[in-house]
Amino acid sequence: MHKKKGLSTHHWYIARFIMTGAMAQRRVKAAVIGAGMSGLVAARELRREGHHVVVFEKGNEVGGTWVYDPRIESDPSGLDPAREVIHSSMYKSLRVNLPRPIMGFSDYPFDAKPGVGDDPRPFPGHEAVLRFLQGFAADSGVVELVRFGHEVVRIERAVEGRNDEWVVEWRTRDGEASAEVFEAVVVCNGKFTEPRLAEFPGRTTWRGEQIHSHNYRVPKPYKDKIVVIIGNGPSGIDIAKDVLLAAKEVHLASRETTTFKIHGGLFQHSPIDHAEEDGKIVFQDGSSIYVDAIIHCSGYKYHFPFLKTNEIVNVDDNCVAPLYQHVFPPALAPWLSFIAIPYRTITFLLSELQSRWVAKILSGKIQLPSKEDMTSSVQEYYQRIEAVGWPKRHTHRLQLEKFDYENWLVGELGLPPLEKWRQNMYFTSFDLLTTFDENGRDTWDVEKWMKGEEGGGGGSDNINYTLEC
Ligand SMILES: Cc1cc2nc3c(=O)[nH]c(=O)nc-3n(C[C@H](O)[C@H](O)[C@H](O)COP(=O)(O)OP(=O)(O)OC[C@H]3O[C@@H](n4cnc5c(N)ncnc54)[C@H](O)[C@@H]3O)c2cc1C
Repeated sequence: MHKKKGLSTHHWYIARFIMTGAMAQRRVKAAVIGAGMSGLVAARELRREGHHVVVFEKGNEVGGTWVYDPRIESDPSGLDPAREVIHSSMYKSLRVNLPRPIMGFSDYPFDAKPGVGDDPRPFPGHEAVLRFLQGFAADSGVVELVRFGHEVVRIERAVEGRNDEWVVEWRTRDGEASAEVFEAVVVCNGKFTEPRLAEFPGRTTWRGEQIHSHNYRVPKPYKDKIVVIIGNGPSGIDIAKDVLLAAKEVHLASRETTTFKIHGGLFQHSPIDHAEEDGKIVFQDGSSIYVDAIIHCSGYKYHFPFLKTNEIVNVDDNCVAPLYQHVFPPALAPWLSFIAIPYRTITFLLSELQSRWVAKILSGKIQLPSKEDMTSSVQEYYQRIEAVGWPKRHTHRLQLEKFDYENWLVGELGLPPLEKWRQNMYFTSFDLLTTFDENGRDTWDVEKWMKGEEGGGGGSDNINYTLEC
């Protein structure tokens, strides 16, 4: 059954052009998919621009990936399409990997708050981020825009060829299906839920336990076991440290070597060459070992099971294409947009900038190039990626241009360039993570660093965000 709630689309067409001072401002009816960090800030920015916003959230609370769920999926490797999907990939011991000054919004910093249950450390546990996001949702009023327990199951143009009428169909917990038409859809469904598994000969017949990091929660199940961890990104290294608290040995298999500052029981290897049925794992350097469990920290896939665009937008080899500036499919712009597709950046900053850009494009304050020019820009970007030898799956990885993208957004928004200290802080944090320094999060005096007393901070007058406009 399809039914409409709130103002009809017809009324929104009438109300669309409203005069604000001398500028004609378009106000649209927008659906935001997801009430994680990105959906919350997107909703705030859209509403600030005067748009009418509804946020659809399949869970019962805001926070997305920061809502820790102790359950693991029925298929811990995440391959079974019929499994019940648990959204969050959070593990119990997780502490943030970027310090507080770069995990917050321009006018709503992630400050340590005195009070019961707060975690005042510069790199707090995941619970503090959830509390921060809950506070942001409440204080900004965005929580009132969220329809909880509404899983979006279909997003499709109401009429083929007409881009500003989108049917958003959802299912509630009790199975009720409903739909409503929106002019704009902003997709903020997260990118760390659909696992990507590492493949190697013998994987499917190997007798040991295999899970994806999405389903890793606590080290206890690995007590006295020999564990291989695939991947040495932030999750691989962090989970290796955690598993080592219980396991007999942890073997990290990856393409690149990591600088270890610790540790008995931890070994580094080249990638897995093949697995044998008796439990042996053979690495590409010829070494081998009998292993009890493999944890795949091999990343995630972009996944939009609800999106029907008639093949206009596709995910191929983990590239969401075509997207102008990682946000708008040229043929559907500005009515369909994606927030937080890029990675290897300051995630909160990215989502806030992209959201503000989308909101202002929808209101008509910022103009997009023509469809043809956007398409050419996308093609040029792909050619640059290819020229530097990056595989397609790295299309949305941002370190290629070291904050050029974020500064481009800032320029579009007419804001001053980002302060250098943010960039420095991000890269310092990233090094900290990937060097396996067990105590790095506690030994780095972030406050001193911010004052420039500890090598590279931007100076205290630079501490305030400059995204205000
Ligand atoms: C293990 C881990 C550690 C991380 N650590 C850090 C860190 O230290 N610092 C940092 O800045 N970032 C970190 N990140 C990145 C983190 O993902 C971002 O900070 C941010 O939370 C992403 O927010 P999001 O809103 O884009 O996605 P999510 O938080 O994933 O939110 C997406 C929301 O969409 C909802 N949703 C999905 N599909 C549907 C649907 N069909 N219908 C309705 N609702 C739907 C989900 O329920 C969810 O609430 C980490 C990520 C992971 C996985």
